[in-house]
Amino acid sequence: MSSAGSEGPSAKSMNVPMKGVAILGSTGSIGTAALRVLGRHPDRFRVVALTAYENVALLAEQVAELSPSFVGLVAGTSSDARWRNGPPCLTEAAIHPDADIVLNAVVGAAGLQATLAALRAGKRVALANKESLVVGGPLVLDARRAGGGELVPVDSEHSAILQCLAGCAHVPVRRIILTASGGPFRGWSQAQLAKASVSDALRHPTWSMGRKITIDSATLANKALEVIEAHYLFGVPYDAIDVVVHPQSLVHSFVEFVDGSVVAQIGIPSMELPILYALTHPNRIEDQGVPRFDPVAAQAMTYEAVDHEAFPTLGLGIAAGRQGGAAPAVFNAANEQAVALFLEQRLTFPDIPRAISSALDAIGDTAGDSIEALLDADARARRHVLEMFAC
Ligand code: NAD
Ligand code: MG
Repeated sequence: MSSAGSEGPSAKSMNVPMKGVAILGSTGSIGTAALRVLGRHPDRFRVVALTAYENVALLAEQVAELSPSFVGLVAGTSSDARWRNGPPCLTEAAIHPDADIVLNAVVGAAGLQATLAALRAGKRVALANKESLVVGGPLVLDARRAGGGELVPVDSEHSAILQCLAGCAHVPVRRIILTASGGPFRGWSQAQLAKASVSDALRHPTWSMGRKITIDSATLANKALEVIEAHYLFGVPYDAIDVVVHPQSLVHSFVEFVDGSVVAQIGIPSMELPILYALTHPNRIEDQGVPRFDPVAAQAMTYEAVDHEAFPTLGLGIAAGRQGGAAPAVFNAANEQAVALFLEQRLTFPDIPRAISSALDAIGDTAGDSIEALLDADARARRHVLEMFAC
């Protein structure tokens, strides 16, 4: 692996201790971006564990290149007897003794238990899996308290907020403004949205990501998940979190302080910077791989209000966040199930908010004070959506 771009004294010559990194979901969009970032800093980070769902071929390639101490495959079979199989491999990787940092880049509620385990074991969790906080926010915060672990966001908006707050830990925040690209359907009417195809929805204007989050960006479910994520990460009430559409995705979010000052973090859309920052926070290291920002080339940055009529999923998710209990878990599970069915072309695009709304009406008002209660609500919400569409 090349160390192109590391100028000045190397980490080794400065006696910076190497950090072990476990990557859960190493074959995905965030997982592979993380491996590119880590590949530029071999003197600071060592990949000690990798897990994937079922992409044996890519996982095997990564293992051959990096020789991690632990390899986990959640589904499917491998010919290598040293690999661990089944869902428990996620928590095994998350508490691996060689791992200082656990990058949770799994998609969906399936990532929650690993986040809890890593925090209880005192690890730094670089959290891409926002669903962990949406499904089990209070449990995640309890696990951090109990184990002394650290929770550092990878999501670009939350990384931006963390960077805006650097050095201001005790300064009261008046408001957080999350930016949203608006997705591929910005400006579409409800009649147009009723006819939106899977390939239309997968054509994101500014970010290249996994399929589930790409659909979530088209419905604005992703922004709802991010409002809940921000609420738990930064301890800010829902009334103080706003969303604004910013089609260029250059401003990754704003923080407004109590004196009226507004601080933003800006950059070309690339997940490599938030991934790197989650590894080095509160410090920064030299990196030549992250695309440079040129304000003249970037030109206009524009903003619009969200069209809540065309995109009801955002409001549904924020209401579920405010309701608390199992409601955010139900929102998330119904969304995951509806998105899976949409990707199989068994639902229309407007069926996604319809499914979520129906599941919230039926199951939203249940307790969510334990992992068992949350997993039960999650399973019931998925069943509700399947039955609703007679699947
Ligand atoms: P992806 O679909 O590209 O990758 C998901 C990874 O998780 C794969 O390695 C897959 O093998 C693994 N996986 C899938 N289902 C699993 C399961 N049931 N159990 C265990 N592992 C499983 O997704 P992605 O776009 O990389 O997103 C990963 C997470 O990061 C999501 O929570 C997403 O919301 C978040 N995120 C992604 C981006 C982005 O730019 N892609 C940006 C911000 C946040
Ligand atoms: Mg985001």
